[in-house]
Amino acid sequence: METYQNFIGGEWVAAQSGKTFETLNPADTREKVAQYPHSGGEDAKAAVAAAKAAFPGWAAMTPVARGRVLSKASQLIESRKPELAKLLTREEGKTLAEATGEVQRTADIFRFFGGISYTLGGQTIPHDLPNNLLYTKREPLGVVALITPWNFPIAIPAWKLAPALVSGNAVVIKPASQAPAMTCEIAKVLAEAGLPKGVLNVVMGDGRAVGGELATNPDVVALSFTGSYKIGHQIYQQLAPRQARAQMEMGGKNPTIVLDDADLDLAAKLVAIAGFGLTGQACTATSRVIVDKKVAAAFTEKLIEKAKAIKVGNGLSDGVTMGPAVNEQEFKGNLDYVDIALKEGAKLVYGGKQLKDGDLAHGYFMEPTIVGGVTPNMRIAKEEVFGPVIAIIEVDGFDQALEVANGVDVGLSASIVTRDIKKAMLYTDRIQVGVIKVNQISTGLALQAPFGGVKQSSTDSFKEQGTVAIDFYTRIKTVYLDYSA
Ligand code: NAP
Repeated sequence: METYQNFIGGEWVAAQSGKTFETLNPADTREKVAQYPHSGGEDAKAAVAAAKAAFPGWAAMTPVARGRVLSKASQLIESRKPELAKLLTREEGKTLAEATGEVQRTADIFRFFGGISYTLGGQTIPHDLPNNLLYTKREPLGVVALITPWNFPIAIPAWKLAPALVSGNAVVIKPASQAPAMTCEIAKVLAEAGLPKGVLNVVMGDGRAVGGELATNPDVVALSFTGSYKIGHQIYQQLAPRQARAQMEMGGKNPTIVLDDADLDLAAKLVAIAGFGLTGQACTATSRVIVDKKVAAAFTEKLIEKAKAIKVGNGLSDGVTMGPAVNEQEFKGNLDYVDIALKEGAKLVYGGKQLKDGDLAHGYFMEPTIVGGVTPNMRIAKEEVFGPVIAIIEVDGFDQALEVANGVDVGLSASIVTRDIKKAMLYTDRIQVGVIKVNQISTGLALQAPFGGVKQSSTDSFKEQGTVAIDFYTRIKTVYLDYSA
């Protein structure tokens, strides 16, 4: 079992209370993966103070010098890819192939923002008068807090940390208690890459106590959160009174529309990857398939074949294509949603049960599940399930499909499968989401493109990822310079 401490002011330290907690392997809960400090508000306060002290020195360095640290970190992460991926799988449960992809993505994110450092300037604007210079410059904000979820335990910390650091901010990060190891490993790598002490601080432990301190500490000038709507909405309100900058990225109920002209083999393949991949534990996972009645039966048959081909098991085992749910609560929640749907009149098309034979007895395994006969008012059609459960809603044509797709409170990602370019384009115009895919999976994002949702999926003020990620972590100052006299 690994042992990690908080990382505060460049030192690895225990929680002030001395308390600890452990993470368990969701594929086999007899295995303890790591031990962490069970921190409270006092630890978060110390981390904010360390970040505040380190900020002026880091901010005074040039973006290019900061970028070199990120580029070096990228190389270190890549060189440790197999070891990090294995630890990620043991703690979070996704398959080794999925974990390896996520670690590679993390190396790429640090490389991308290392490169961005060469472009972090302002704009020169023509002045009304001669011999006057009018320009803008970008400045870091100060101490920025990051609160992250467990489902992408290395990529999400990375896609917040890299733009925050290259912009010149000092950071306190609180990873999800379910899977904090990868954040600690990033801290180790950044320290080795030359990040000055105190610029990055990591505090593990009680979400309410540590997160609550970060949300209310007056020295935290901005907070970027990814997680559930319930917590994100609460933090947003805690930040508002002092006008701290807020970026809340939350859940979705992502639709894939399958029109009557669609290539049904392609549609089934895309839905299976986006709905069952990562055990359905992606914020952009397809959880609603809105399919034209005319092709619903044929599509469903093909999707069942895809579900049957999935091998569920320990993500470290050869041939396994779907791992366990991350913990008992999520696991039970997934099974409960199936029960609720059936009670509300939906039909179980495939799966729906726990898997506990042989090696699966000690993990949170369930079958990939397809629920048919779902109507838009059922809970399974409106609430995030966050597991390998796909709801099929049948509709009559494109207009009704669009209406159903938009008929939820959230709007993160969406997909459409069709050969009709006009309908595809109308869908991109009218769907209320942040990311729309045509003939592609609803999951999977390019790190160089903006990402974020609308409605209750996001505060929708700043995007993450891509070059625009820098906007959240910098402010623009406008300079007027008169040299006419
Ligand atoms: P969560 O329960 O909301 O937790 C997220 C983070 O908030 C964790 O670090 C958690 O710490 C912390 N936290 C808990 N209570 C808090 C409080 N009172 N104040 C401040 N922080 C607090 O979400 P999750 O279960 O980890 O993640 C799953 C959710 O994330 C899903 O809804 C998913 O859709 C969403 N997600 C969204 C995106 C996106 O980009 N839109 C990406 C990935 C995931 P503890 O772990 O210690 O409780």
